[in-house]
Amino acid sequence: MAQRLRIVVVGGGTAGWMMASGLSRLLPSDQYDLTLIESDEIGTVGVGEATLPHIKQFNDRLGIDEAEFMRATGATIKLGIEFVGWNNPTDRYIHPFGAFGEPWAGVDFQHHWARARLAGIDAGSLQDYCYAIELCRANAFELPDADTASIRSTYSYAYHFDAGLYAGFLRGWATRRGAKRIEGRITDVHRDAETGHVRSLTLKSGESVEGDFFVDCSGFRSLLVGGACQVPWCDWSEWLPCDRALAVPSDRVEPLTPFTRATAAKAGWTWRIPLQHRIGNGYVFSSRWCGEEEAHDTLMAALDGPAQMEPRLLRFAAGRWARAWAGNCLAVGLASGFLEPLESTSIFLIQAALFDLVELMPRAGGIDPRLPAEFNRLFAIHYDRVRDFLVLHYMANSRHGEPLWDHVRTMPLPDSLMHKLELFREGAVAPGYKLGLFSRDSWLSVFEGQGVMPGDYARLADRLPLAELEKRLSDLRTRIRDGVVGVPSHGDFIKRHCAARDAAGQGEAA
Ligand code: FAD
Repeated sequence: MAQRLRIVVVGGGTAGWMMASGLSRLLPSDQYDLTLIESDEIGTVGVGEATLPHIKQFNDRLGIDEAEFMRATGATIKLGIEFVGWNNPTDRYIHPFGAFGEPWAGVDFQHHWARARLAGIDAGSLQDYCYAIELCRANAFELPDADTASIRSTYSYAYHFDAGLYAGFLRGWATRRGAKRIEGRITDVHRDAETGHVRSLTLKSGESVEGDFFVDCSGFRSLLVGGACQVPWCDWSEWLPCDRALAVPSDRVEPLTPFTRATAAKAGWTWRIPLQHRIGNGYVFSSRWCGEEEAHDTLMAALDGPAQMEPRLLRFAAGRWARAWAGNCLAVGLASGFLEPLESTSIFLIQAALFDLVELMPRAGGIDPRLPAEFNRLFAIHYDRVRDFLVLHYMANSRHGEPLWDHVRTMPLPDSLMHKLELFREGAVAPGYKLGLFSRDSWLSVFEGQGVMPGDYARLADRLPLAELEKRLSDLRTRIRDGVVGVPSHGDFIKRHCAARDAAGQGEAA
């Protein structure tokens, strides 16, 4: 019989349980033993409630039923993020999970829009050409139409959910599928003197847990990869200076909005995430420009319902470890690095790590060094692309006279971001890479929202006569506006599809 690989997942937060669920579902069960260690004494970070549409692929691949998952986690629908005050204090725009316009004459929509504007046609904002944004404006939701010719098919969606309930949901899911759970605090890590590979972990109780492959999901502690293996840290705080967050839940208010809101503030930004039973709120700020007391007041003033407890403070630094996979340890989740939650990317990065790992999973008996090399190449691409997208939100701002915003507007940028900015400014070309985040439509929404405008467009767009272009633009705007008529409200959709039960299992949550 083939030797079984002993996989040990360290940590039982969202990362640990997503990895345990994914590995227990996707790997052949006769080739692996899976153990997860978590510590009640340490607990989890307890935040992380907004996601990206990719989470649906994760759930689908695992065979998780959508309505069951939404009921269990108090989940609502997320169609995008509304950014308030990011360019100047009064503006607002939505980064939607949907397409802008349609490609005409073989060229992407933004080239036609740019051409119309440059020709003096009143083409409005790109925001008027996206059906998902119209749904957000109307607080409406229905599942996308399967007919791809329909305007009602041009979007995808993600979820807001309760992070604590989600971890519990996945824990049940993974343990029912064979993952073994050990509760206890790891106090020692033992490494092979020759190879440096981790061999075993000692718990506070004295118990020793041996393994062949360790998935480090220990959160900001990064017990194995940052700690025992001492992989160097790539610090990105020069581009993303926010290093603190205060988080607090508040009572639910109506209407139930199908989007996250991120509102720029003096030294950072506040988030608002509507769940079925409460609203998750937080203030991400830079300690260089704001004290904790002032941050507390900013957050409490931003709530639109009574707070349910005192805010909790979290400390972090932007960056990632130079390698996520070192020896026989792989860091996932907060143990692999941190990018502020502005675009809800952390849970996506956990999922990406899971899918990359199952492709590259070593067999019992040794690790081919090409596997970690490939994983680390993909890991760097994922993180670096998200970083550039986040930095774009900050660097293009007109909030003059506020020290944080003046700093990020004038700082030197990563070369990779400069390149993308120049391509868009010079010719309306938006990034269209296949791997990782973000899509072309995402870049377009933030370029325009932050006031980065194209000065030219692809010549192919000239194939359409200007009069026809003007008519097509106007017809499309009408089709989008008319398309939301009759769509149920987001609140009604949730009631019908997946209303959460209260603690006693009686009826719907408030
Ligand atoms: P944790 O939740 O910290 O879990 C670490 C685990 O390791 C725990 O079980 C702990 O007990 C265990 N552990 C640690 N040390 C030991 C030890 N010595 N022995 C035994 N066990 C140990 N992501 C999103 O996608 N969307 C969001 O909206 C979002 N918002 C966020 C807001 C903030 C302010 C922050 C800080 C993060 C946010 N994130 C968000 C990120 C998200 O919270 C994390 O990616 C996610 O929760 C995964 O965390 P984790 O499992 O890596 O770490």
